[in-house]
Amino acid sequence: MKTWADLEKERFDAIKKRDWCSAKMIALEQAVFLEKEKKSSFILRKEAAKYEIYENKEACESLNHKLRILACPDSCGACKNQEGYSYSIEEALEKMPIPRKKCDHKIGFCRCCWIIDL
Ligand SMILES: [Zn+2]
Repeated sequence: MKTWADLEKERFDAIKKRDWCSAKMIALEQAVFLEKEKKSSFILRKEAAKYEIYENKEACESLNHKLRILACPDSCGACKNQEGYSYSIEEALEKMPIPRKKCDHKIGFCRCCWIIDL
């Protein structure tokens, strides 16, 4: 099994290569790692959301599209309320509306994600 140090190294290597998709997946794996240890995973989930913005940056800018928040079918009310709001790449990075810090879903964290607003 991978250690925390392995995951940290993999994530930083992915960042160096600007491989945002891999960086996101590794950050989410690290979030699960923390949850298993009953620690808060919010910072890692926030990192994952940031990489997701970077991942979509080029496509958004070349197509002149914004990013839109997508909630899950069983998201909590607060997460569902933010669904559909659009942000430019700059606004998304500045405001970081997802993951929501206060999410009432029973799994304990917000699973909203970014999609390109076509
Ligand atoms: Zn929620």
